[in-house]
Amino acid sequence: TTFDTMPDLQQAEHILHDVFGFEVFRSLQKDIIENVLQKRDTLAVMPTGGGKSLCYQIPALIFDGLTIVVSPLISLMKDQVDQLTAYGISASYLNSSLSPREYQNTLDLIRRNKLDLLYLAPETLLKGNVLNLLSGLNVECVAIDEAHCISEWGHDFRPEYRQLADVTNRFTNAVTLGLTATATPRVQEDIATSLGLKNANTFVASFNRENLYLNVESKNSALQQVINFIRRHEGDSGIIYCFSRKQVDQLSQDLNANGFKSLPYHAGLGEQERAQNQDAFIKDEVDIIVATIAFGMGIDKPDVRFVVHHDMPKNIESYYQQIGRAGRDGLQSDCLFLFSYGDAAKIRYFIDQKAEAEQRVTEQHLQKLMEYVEAHQCRRIKLLQYFGEHFNEPNCGMCDFCTGDSPEKENITIPVQKFLSTMARTDQKFGYHHIKNILVGSRRKEVLKFGHDQLSTYGIGKEFSRPEWKQLYRELMKQDIIVREFEHKSLKLTPKAVEILKGEQEVFGVIEEPQKKAQTGNTKS
Ligand code: ADP
Ligand code: ZN
Repeated sequence: TTFDTMPDLQQAEHILHDVFGFEVFRSLQKDIIENVLQKRDTLAVMPTGGGKSLCYQIPALIFDGLTIVVSPLISLMKDQVDQLTAYGISASYLNSSLSPREYQNTLDLIRRNKLDLLYLAPETLLKGNVLNLLSGLNVECVAIDEAHCISEWGHDFRPEYRQLADVTNRFTNAVTLGLTATATPRVQEDIATSLGLKNANTFVASFNRENLYLNVESKNSALQQVINFIRRHEGDSGIIYCFSRKQVDQLSQDLNANGFKSLPYHAGLGEQERAQNQDAFIKDEVDIIVATIAFGMGIDKPDVRFVVHHDMPKNIESYYQQIGRAGRDGLQSDCLFLFSYGDAAKIRYFIDQKAEAEQRVTEQHLQKLMEYVEAHQCRRIKLLQYFGEHFNEPNCGMCDFCTGDSPEKENITIPVQKFLSTMARTDQKFGYHHIKNILVGSRRKEVLKFGHDQLSTYGIGKEFSRPEWKQLYRELMKQDIIVREFEHKSLKLTPKAVEILKGEQEVFGVIEEPQKKAQTGNTKS
């Protein structure tokens, strides 16, 4: 190539500009590339969308020999190769989706040393004939994408990956580069050991996506909340995630009925319709895609300006993946998460259907997500903590908490204690109205009949109006502090309530002046 006479790293920068058209390296790309060019085995941990591909694509253009890229995502190989070909790079792939003819053609290119990059499914690489062919060539780099698949501690273990270490040993002139977006130290160690990475240099990029504005709102009139949000994003591309296919169809219709242009995407649509809708989104023919989690794998649209969670994701990992599809171009993008305790209950219901061991893990993951939405602090703290990262900027400036957009949660421990202790004093035998009547000092018949006007908590709750007590009651239900017994409609204290009564735990919640309900759109016009 024409860059041949330059020192390697300088060549790398030229390729970044001249071939890929990018201004500067992203965090760690340069370090990783430098390491790979010096033929030091490397493990690169970067969030999805962080720019892992360039870490082997650029060295592949500098090395004289071949770079092999092992990837389990067969469906994405073609896209990657098409993209590289469009950049004028000679790349191809081998996997089970090729016709015998295409397969032979690619083998031919390999034999004739015509490729800089070859993408392979792990099971293809392990085939005798492929392995023999490659062993006779100058392979200079083996990049193993989704390297966490090698670890049983990861979330996506694939046995074929286990055999890759033996394979990389065969290519004595090749440097091994493992790449993953899974950040737990245990998995990282496992990757290095299993791949036999010699003194692997591990590079872990920050998982903080500074350009994403994180907002969590409590869901009360979902459609209206979504509409208000996307009105601020006219002409922008965005994805709205829903829990079920039915909700996807409904919301997409509702939005269209309200004058927006959106298309649905879920596994229930025919393959062709799905591909069409995705295509329309990528080509900017439609701005909004309403989708289940089926949407997004391998979508590389750089200018997605917003991601809305109309319903609750399963855990922080999926949430992070999904919001990660916004703002890949580095420009500010907006993430809205509509949170409801009802959604959490729905997910719990599905968890209950699973095997016990799996239940425990999934429940823990859900719990972490709840901590994220309920946190009374910068959104980035809990989010990054999940990925083992310590975030301690006093104000990120890019979340609802730091910019003061979240409705103020107040410390409501005292009124909550009043409510709970009234329940305790009446032996947890009464419903909401009775407890509230005692608190506000009502002279109603039932209060007097039971002698509840003699209780020490009688009339001690006059600081709250009736609607305010109702909101407090809802908070108690939502936060699992009390439960309502089905048969007698009486309220019962949970273990959480006991802690609060003992003063061992405080309660925060939003008690607002009663407000008018937001208008909802109507599709049946
Ligand atoms: P990953 O494999 O880590 O999920 P990709 O390699 O697909 O991420 O990169 C994500 C996006 O970022 C792509 O659109 C890619 O072209 C872009 N990108 C990567 N590196 C840079 C860079 N240095 N400058 C600008 N854009 C970049
Ligand atoms: Zn913040």
